[in-house]
Amino acid sequence: MRAAVAEGVNAPLSLIERDVPDPGAGEVLVKVTACGVCYSDLNLLQGKYAFARFPVIPGHEVTGVVTAVGDGVTFPEVGTTVGAQFLYDSCGHCNYCVRGEQILCPRKRITGVVTDGGYAEYAVFKAGFVTPLPSGLDPVQAAPLMCAGITAYNGLRHAGATPNSRVAVIGAGGIGTLAIRYAVAMGARVAVVGRSRRGEDAAKAMGAELYVSTDESPAAETLKTWDGGADVILNAAPSSTAAAETLGGLAPDGTLILCGYSAYPLSLPVQPMVLNRLRVMASPSGSPHDLRDTLAFSAQHQILPAITAITLDEAPETLDAMAAGRARGGRGVITFA
Ligand SMILES: [Zn+2]
Ligand SMILES: [Zn+2]
Repeated sequence: MRAAVAEGVNAPLSLIERDVPDPGAGEVLVKVTACGVCYSDLNLLQGKYAFARFPVIPGHEVTGVVTAVGDGVTFPEVGTTVGAQFLYDSCGHCNYCVRGEQILCPRKRITGVVTDGGYAEYAVFKAGFVTPLPSGLDPVQAAPLMCAGITAYNGLRHAGATPNSRVAVIGAGGIGTLAIRYAVAMGARVAVVGRSRRGEDAAKAMGAELYVSTDESPAAETLKTWDGGADVILNAAPSSTAAAETLGGLAPDGTLILCGYSAYPLSLPVQPMVLNRLRVMASPSGSPHDLRDTLAFSAQHQILPAITAITLDEAPETLDAMAAGRARGGRGVITFA
């Protein structure tokens, strides 16, 4: 099979030929239909995951068809279209695993970072960690839901987005656009925070009632005039400091949730946080049950990201464009014929 391999930090991806892997006990072999190219793949190549194991096949936004199963696997059956995500597997017996919160397991392993992922024609996954794709979701367009989608959807619900709550989303990229659409579909009132007015029309078309341009005024001030502030501010921009600056735009009892972040330490004004019982939290992607919920909600409301289909050979240049800030036209998704 054809595969792209990350050989080490700051090394270019190698396009290689390799034997199709055999599924072991409890595993399924998936013929990959599509794999999203994510900024986390760039983090891997740039050495930002200290726990990475090179050489490794990247890719954790995978959809495909189960073509063989290992010993003991009764579900999913051969022929099922499934999605595989960032969480490869977990220990299965810690308090988080038994609660169904495998994403919090101290011994979790990450797809495409510690184990081989979806930049290949075939990949092996744990049967209990793949999720059947609901009918009505195109497997190519749905690939980024396995990471950007679950991160946005799960972030919103952990932060307490409810019908009629006021949700502000910072940044309208991959995660941000999905967060805007999920929040609208959840029945929340939505504001979008961007730098210039350029994103305003798109935000309003997705159902946002307010657009805040930080070029014109500080986001915190504008959000505070929105019926007293946002109940949830979801940061989808790759900047922790930009998120911290919006904290004053929260209503009392509000939550700032970091789905996007940068490496800089956060500096937060504590007194207003105490006086208004504000929360700041971060959120990873999610557990298998979270992916089921994300995919079901996406299918019900037909929420699918904008994508650009690419070939495996085009993956290195797509990653280069992302690293240089030149990525345009929706998430790159590697497709296999
Ligand atoms: Zn990702
Ligand atoms: Zn565990």
